[in-house]
Amino acid sequence: MPYLDHAATTPLDPRVLEEMMPYLTKHFGNASSVHTRGRRARHAVESARERVAACIGASSGEIVFTSGGTEADNLALFGVAHATGLPVVTSSAEHEAVLRAAERLREDGHRVAIVAPEPSGAPSAARILEAVGEGEAFVSVMHANNEVGTVSPVRSIATRCRDAGGLVHTDAVQSAGALDLNVDELAVDLLSISAHKIYGPKGAGALYVRSGTPFDPHLVGGAQERRRRGGTENVAAVVGLARALELAVEERDARNAHLSMLRDRLIGGLKRMLDNALRFNTPLEPSESIPHIVSVSFPPTDRGPVDGEMLLLNMDMAGVAVSAGSACTSGAIEPSHVLLAMGLDRPTAAATIRFSMGKDTRIEEIDEAAATLFRTYARVSA
Ligand code: PLP
Repeated sequence: MPYLDHAATTPLDPRVLEEMMPYLTKHFGNASSVHTRGRRARHAVESARERVAACIGASSGEIVFTSGGTEADNLALFGVAHATGLPVVTSSAEHEAVLRAAERLREDGHRVAIVAPEPSGAPSAARILEAVGEGEAFVSVMHANNEVGTVSPVRSIATRCRDAGGLVHTDAVQSAGALDLNVDELAVDLLSISAHKIYGPKGAGALYVRSGTPFDPHLVGGAQERRRRGGTENVAAVVGLARALELAVEERDARNAHLSMLRDRLIGGLKRMLDNALRFNTPLEPSESIPHIVSVSFPPTDRGPVDGEMLLLNMDMAGVAVSAGSACTSGAIEPSHVLLAMGLDRPTAAATIRFSMGKDTRIEEIDEAAATLFRTYARVSA
């Protein structure tokens, strides 16, 4: 039963669960309490903060724990836009957590520019910088796209924006584990990560906020996270995030080698069986994308549009878990905003399958998935 939806979520690594367990059971203290149980919880939270910081080349005071990637993205956009009033520049291929936050800011009177990506799915540095113009701006560009896997030129965008006095956020939720997240190398001021995409628990994430970045809290009512995010800390979850991120960094080369092999195998199989019927949304040049995502779409045939929902349901009935574009949009009939922004027409975008492999995916599962898509397509398009 191949599970090829790791971009939606990953299973919890037993090594992560093991480290979380004591904080879900006997070490239940509130990290703000001054007694021994509280201090134990505080120690766990602060050590998790140091471990997360070390993985991305930050210092611990720059890490704000959140309930996941969505909250980290929202916090970045609202936090900086409200504190600075800077115009916001982002791309229409961003995750909804950035895009909707930008639209909310626009409704509230902020200046917001949303730039179309290139056909590859990544925004071009030139177009982002053109939207920034001469002045200072707050730019948010994702590190790697969650639907098609394309890697954005974050560093070149960030260095030029920051030279002009601006601030830069990147959503690294999908690139965590696959790419180096050193914040100085990326030259960013803010960076979002989420634990459940890297074999950690759901409902845990972090926002890196470079020291000195003007920032307004979004959740108020508690002094936690240096007043940048109120609320009793989820001790087990942040411990899980730290362990998951450490493992992702330690095992990155081995995981990437395995995932690249699977990706080549999948692309080869799909080309052999379905080459005339499909288009690859993921760039085929390996350096342009993260290795675990392969997205394909089926343009209409002489018999009309291909029913994407039927493809997905039939794949599921055959035991292959994949998604249509992104998990956040599957279930809805609307084609993915990312694929539309890349220039796909609606019927083609609506007939999309995203395969996303994991560190434990086996080669036989890839072969089974490709063969299942071949059979499913033959049935659905007949
Ligand atoms: N950003 C990207 C690129 C994502 O892929 C996701 C999840 O799909 C998110 C943000 C949201 O993260 P979370 O599920 O932790 O809220």
